[in-house]
Amino acid sequence: MQITRSGSETQIGPSDWFTGTVYIDPVAAPSDGSRLAAALVHFAPGARTAWHTHPHGQTIFVTEGVGLCQREGGHVEVIRPGDRVFFEPGESHWHGATADRLMTHLAMHQCDAEGNAVAWGRQVSDAEYGAANGA
Ligand code: MN
Repeated sequence: MQITRSGSETQIGPSDWFTGTVYIDPVAAPSDGSRLAAALVHFAPGARTAWHTHPHGQTIFVTEGVGLCQREGGHVEVIRPGDRVFFEPGESHWHGATADRLMTHLAMHQCDAEGNAVAWGRQVSDAEYGAANGA
């Protein structure tokens, strides 16, 4: 058993991978016996990930606010607290807050053999995001 006390600094989502203000707190870190990684992620209104994929897929569970998610070629979906979304391995997608509401989700995903849990692509453009918000 290992207890990790609250106290590590909240990370800021890097601007290469996120648009807007995103706060990330680690929840689970991979170890010798487990490839599970998890994080609690807060998106400010308007904030979202870049397009990306996960080698073993990802589950997000919304805990606060109102969010959006989209897989490449699919419709934008509104997601709310209690909703969970599974993104298939290798499925290009993004997730984030709506333009006028924050969104918090728990993100859970497995690392591959090289320790990577995500492969990043291009940013979600303002035009794509505006369309997602019904603009
Ligand atoms: Mn994802």
